Amino acid sequence: MPPKVGNDGRLYYNYNVGLRVVMKENNEGWHFEIKNATYLSCTEYYTCARNGELMPAQLSANRVRFLLSVCGQEVIAAGEARELPLLPEEVENFYSDKIEYYDKQLAKMVNCKAYGEARTKINALACKIGTYEALEKPGVEELKKEYAEIENSANEILIKAGVDVSIFNMQRCPDCNEHGFDKYGSICACAYAKAEEIKDFNAKIRLKARKYQN
Ligand SMILES: [Zn+2]
Repeated sequence: MPPKVGNDGRLYYNYNVGLRVVMKENNEGWHFEIKNATYLSCTEYYTCARNGELMPAQLSANRVRFLLSVCGQEVIAAGEARELPLLPEEVENFYSDKIEYYDKQLAKMVNCKAYGEARTKINALACKIGTYEALEKPGVEELKKEYAEIENSANEILIKAGVDVSIFNMQRCPDCNEHGFDKYGSICACAYAKAEEIKDFNAKIRLKARKYQN
């Protein structure tokens, strides 16, 4: 059973925690209540109670749906919607979009001829400065000044070409190199730290998709 997409585009458990329903089975009435919900291996599991006593095993969302459809009579408490934890596919979407954006900026930079020319000058100057310093030749300060000026103008060339230069100074996560998963394939700590941003990113995509579906 796929998770429920809320009006805000985020993912929720299909059933609310605190849901209470009057049930009827073989002419016998009883109370069903959802006490807690967890998400494991892409499946929703519910800790439930029957007449106030915890049921021995957790129920999957499919099982809850089945029970409610067969025995449910009347909802006496709606309970509260609970959000799903951050999902691997959400992390994947977020970081692959980031990488795509980075690659796009990089391609723009590589294809900018004026920038390439400035870079060639910069590299040549760097070599020259190195030689001057090694030989203790006079005039190093002027060369360094020139270097800084070309460096600045190179940056301006990029900005004018519409390149988002801020991303090239971005600190990359040492554990996942901005891919969102650590070497064991688990969601990286940097992604958990950005969980809200990642969920919002995915929610926007879902809402957009919904807009075009309707
Ligand atoms: Zn990371």
